[in-house]
Amino acid sequence: MRIGHGYDAHRFTAGRPLRLGGVEVPHTQGLEAHSDGDVVIHALCDALLGAAGLGDIGRHFPDSAAEYAGIDSRKLLRRVMALLRERDLAVVNADLTVVAQQPRLAPHIPDMESRLAQDLQVPVQRVNVKATTSEGMGFVGRGEGIAAHAVVLLEERPAPPTADV
Ligand code: MG
Repeated sequence: MRIGHGYDAHRFTAGRPLRLGGVEVPHTQGLEAHSDGDVVIHALCDALLGAAGLGDIGRHFPDSAAEYAGIDSRKLLRRVMALLRERDLAVVNADLTVVAQQPRLAPHIPDMESRLAQDLQVPVQRVNVKATTSEGMGFVGRGEGIAAHAVVLLEERPAPPTADV
């Protein structure tokens, strides 16, 4: 078993859709980033890479690379999963916390969980997404941005042999 932790925060900016956990959440502004700004998936990728001992998301997908401009973060997540599979690592479960003062995220959590479970290749019961405010304190409380935390557990599990022997 291997445990990993990830944290990310992004600043709000006008004129972009708000993407969180692979879901477009209706809001007046989105998050500033080189990619689509999905802070939840970025924290999750860092937790997965951390558990695998593979560094962090910036090392694998540098924001100086044009190929990642505006990229759907679910694609980054699926690439991280491919790196894990190469090392016979599979996800046991993932637990995520999104810290946002606005908008209200509760109605979108089931969608986030099902999309993330799909990308992580686990049953949806193995993915838990929680949302909280920061009670008006700090940068999140002032509505300057959104933060996300992720914890994952991986296990070493060899991929099933292919049939083409
Ligand atoms: Mg990020």
